[in-house]
Amino acid sequence: MGRGQVIAKCSLRSITQAPYPRALSALIAATLAVLIDPIFRFSDYRDLLHLLPVVGAMKFSGALTLVFLQVVALFYLILLLPGIPRMIALLLSVFVVVVQFSYWVTLSQFMTGTDLSLVFTVGVDTLEEAVLSFLNPLIFLYALPYVLVLTTLILFPFRSTFRKSLALSLLPALYLLASNYALFLHVPERSFHLNPLNSFLRSTLHYEFETLHEYHGPRDDLPTFFPSQRPLDSIIYIIDESVRGSNLSLNGYSRATTPFLQSLETQGRLKNLGICVAAGSFSLISNAYLVSGHHAFPDDAFRTDKNPTLFDYGKKMGYETIYIDIDQGYLFPLMKAAGKCPVRSLDRWMTDQSFKERHIDLETTKDLGVARFLSDLLNERGGYFVLVNKKGLHFHYRNRYPNNPASTIWKPVMEASKPIDPSPTGREKLVNTYDNGIRFQVDEFFRVFVSDTTNQNYVILYTSDHGQTLAEHGQVYTHMKPDKVIVDVPEFFVVGERYAQKGLLDGIPLGIRVSHLNNFATLLDLMGVPMSLRVRPYAKSIFSLTAEDNRVRTYMSGSLHGFGDYVVKRIPTPPDEGWGVSRPVDKSFKSE
Ligand SMILES: [Zn+2]
Repeated sequence: MGRGQVIAKCSLRSITQAPYPRALSALIAATLAVLIDPIFRFSDYRDLLHLLPVVGAMKFSGALTLVFLQVVALFYLILLLPGIPRMIALLLSVFVVVVQFSYWVTLSQFMTGTDLSLVFTVGVDTLEEAVLSFLNPLIFLYALPYVLVLTTLILFPFRSTFRKSLALSLLPALYLLASNYALFLHVPERSFHLNPLNSFLRSTLHYEFETLHEYHGPRDDLPTFFPSQRPLDSIIYIIDESVRGSNLSLNGYSRATTPFLQSLETQGRLKNLGICVAAGSFSLISNAYLVSGHHAFPDDAFRTDKNPTLFDYGKKMGYETIYIDIDQGYLFPLMKAAGKCPVRSLDRWMTDQSFKERHIDLETTKDLGVARFLSDLLNERGGYFVLVNKKGLHFHYRNRYPNNPASTIWKPVMEASKPIDPSPTGREKLVNTYDNGIRFQVDEFFRVFVSDTTNQNYVILYTSDHGQTLAEHGQVYTHMKPDKVIVDVPEFFVVGERYAQKGLLDGIPLGIRVSHLNNFATLLDLMGVPMSLRVRPYAKSIFSLTAEDNRVRTYMSGSLHGFGDYVVKRIPTPPDEGWGVSRPVDKSFKSE
């Protein structure tokens, strides 16, 4: 036995013979774990100290003690477990530590309740890609000291009966629940994270408390109205995924990413509205606002859950309503809220699976399969209101266009599944891959749809849920955070040659600024919804905007309902230097 082992054994013996051995061991392990943390997450602790003058010494030290005791309670609970279950708990803990650090390395924060809720709503493939894009060898280095501290918990002998352990666990478990509820109510979600493990428990409980506080009732009804007949035109609302507006040559980007869209504009069939400001920095927020027409941030009155949806209005006006959601955009929350009943006013919905059943392989054709489906639909008859959450350009971009020379216009490209490398060479590949993706998923999508559609009485309103950072300022994340660049999205109309209401589009004045918040009333105008039927005040429709409107365009990031952390930010007029502009790669910084 080596000298170190002898010391370890002796100190373990002195601990196990102390009056409260388990509590003491938990205290020592918790202290060690908490001392390790600031070494890796120094910046978080520095930010935490900045909070001290704001909240005062009493509240600050109170919260600090509360969270520290949580770590002790958590370790104490682990020590109450016998051999094998304790082993399993520790393995799970190691897994959580690794996940937390992968989050931290990428987004400079541990998981929040919002992140957890997204884990439950996004698709498995999106999740898989997110995990892969976060993987970084550094994480294991960060996790190692925690793993060592956790390993010491195995050494503690188990001398207790099941009943006694259960009785002893009640108080710490209750403490964890009550103290986390107090944090949920009084402390910003991203403050006072002293330990990745404890932090995870806090986010999980935060998510549960949030769900309890949410609105679970029906949506508001619309007044009675009987349309004379099924409309002849069709309205297609396309919400793309992760498409940055300033990367479209339609919006002045230096590469020809959207030549087809530009040709449509020349023919007078595309009305470009320039760079739009998205409602949120990730899909859930944007979709919730786009579908419900709510326009105040955050949604602390649960209006995104209470307002009638676009489908309610569409149905009321006699349209057949279809929701194509191949990106797990917002269909799942709508279905969850409806419980066992169908989603109100939604005649049909389609997911990835529905396309598989129709033998349309979206893996190969990507969004083009959807474009062809839409053409077929319209060619049969008119009178549809279709909402599409496209697959678009969710990272990894390399998976969003076919692997052939014709689709690889800009080279070199990133390999699929590689994480973002913000160095100049890494960024060059990132942007090349993204631009190839835009050309295919956006420009080619419209080329296929427009060429295949013979029924010319339609209008498309197109935007994206949010944009992408493209590592412009060294970001290794694509979106989710409140960076202004993330809300840079495209917006335009495309119309069929015989679209009945083309006059509306011709009347749009020059020089207006649009935001996602304007889209709801715009669609109501296109549907011909009378004012008497509009039960909520909505932000102005694009058709009523003047050059004086939207001088400040607002968006948010974080917790949709304002629980925990959220930020509300603004895009002023004129915007900050460089906002709404994208550059392929600054060759002057290129390292050889
Ligand atoms: Zn998205």
